[in-house]
Amino acid sequence: MNDKKFAKKIYIFGLSLAAAILAVATIYLINIHNINRAYYERAHTKSAVALRKFPYPYKAAMAISSDIDGTTTKEEFLEIQSFLNTKEKASMGEGVGLEIGNSFIVYAPTTCTFSYFSGDSGDAQVIRKYIRAGYIDSLHSYGEKFDFSREDAIKAIRELRNNRCQVDVWVDHARTPNNLGDDTTFGLGDHPDSPAYHADLTIDYGIKFVWLGRITMVIGQSAPISLRTFSSIYDSNHPITSLINMGKEFAKNFLAILGNRKYALHRTYDLVRIARLDDGQKVYEFIRFDNYWKGVATGATSRRLAYVISRRTLDRLKEVGGYTIVYTHLGKNSDCSEVIPKETQTALRELAGEFEQGNIYVTTTSRLLNYYLIHSYLDWSYETISDEIVIRISHVQDPVFGPFMPTEKNLRGITFYVPSKDKVRLYIGDKEIANIQRNQPDYTERESITIK
Ligand SMILES: [Zn+2]
Repeated sequence: MNDKKFAKKIYIFGLSLAAAILAVATIYLINIHNINRAYYERAHTKSAVALRKFPYPYKAAMAISSDIDGTTTKEEFLEIQSFLNTKEKASMGEGVGLEIGNSFIVYAPTTCTFSYFSGDSGDAQVIRKYIRAGYIDSLHSYGEKFDFSREDAIKAIRELRNNRCQVDVWVDHARTPNNLGDDTTFGLGDHPDSPAYHADLTIDYGIKFVWLGRITMVIGQSAPISLRTFSSIYDSNHPITSLINMGKEFAKNFLAILGNRKYALHRTYDLVRIARLDDGQKVYEFIRFDNYWKGVATGATSRRLAYVISRRTLDRLKEVGGYTIVYTHLGKNSDCSEVIPKETQTALRELAGEFEQGNIYVTTTSRLLNYYLIHSYLDWSYETISDEIVIRISHVQDPVFGPFMPTEKNLRGITFYVPSKDKVRLYIGDKEIANIQRNQPDYTERESITIK
């Protein structure tokens, strides 16, 4: 009798557990289905005129986002940028000539004397020059100052404004109190009751995009989620560690779908989400990528960049047609005999090859984020007049900073699939744009036009 009762209890418990697992799995799968449907709708290019995901002819896009700590002198910074941005021959051979940007810091941490207020006026001069050229596009926090207060932010912003130095990307640094992220980077910069509060001034200065500490090992953001999203983390050279990494990444996605806020960006693996800072201001938060096998965020050095942007990453990125913003510190090179080690030079040359062959669009973090924003919220329509297509762009319906009329420069790279490239006219508002590039069919066999 007692045995029977016990068996019945076990049976009921087992049944309830199975039902609970089934319910959670169903909720998870329904969410994934909805996320993927939204991606397919966004990528829909079957209609006569359609917005292409990336600038012609690219299949995917990458920015390398390098935190400046670790770069100790302006000479080192200049040598790194010369290799990245030019094809000049220097100590490391010919440069790769890519649009790869960098960041700056205002008050120097101990690992980085190269900073705006380092005391060496040459540092500030170099930083200003690169900001104006668009090759420094990120403020890597205000830096490390033991008594940092709102006054220090005011001083920094006044200096930048007086020198016409505008950047729109913020990247949290280590665990410095002026950070804007709460949980992984322990910032107080957005807490109005903190002496370090500056988020109102910083957003007013022009910061639109913020990185608050979120990193993923998933290759290619803003693409549908499948088993391969997680299984492609597996690295046969490091089977056990990479299996654990896979499990962790899946757990973050799973928790996010069940409502966890810390991993909100892991819910859809979109490149960007609208986030609310602690003071109530809205901003665009973006996720960065680092799949180094020893674990998220252990690969952010110059040498390990070779792994993070290896052939495996580039091929998978093209396969999924995703965006990625790679997390690194190009100046963390104390384990290298050259400013950029050989294996990373090779990886960057391979990336340059992908760019030159029209496969992977490589640009600065700011340009990539602005392209994403404009592409996502572009308000446009078309009509057929006799045998011509007339495309009209009216606004960018920016949900955070408000709708705006884009300029030709804002729209650089925006590409429309059209039935015939030679029978298209394009207007921004009432103004016809003459400066368009008319493209031969791409790998989808469709013709297109691109705003230059
Ligand atoms: Zn840092």
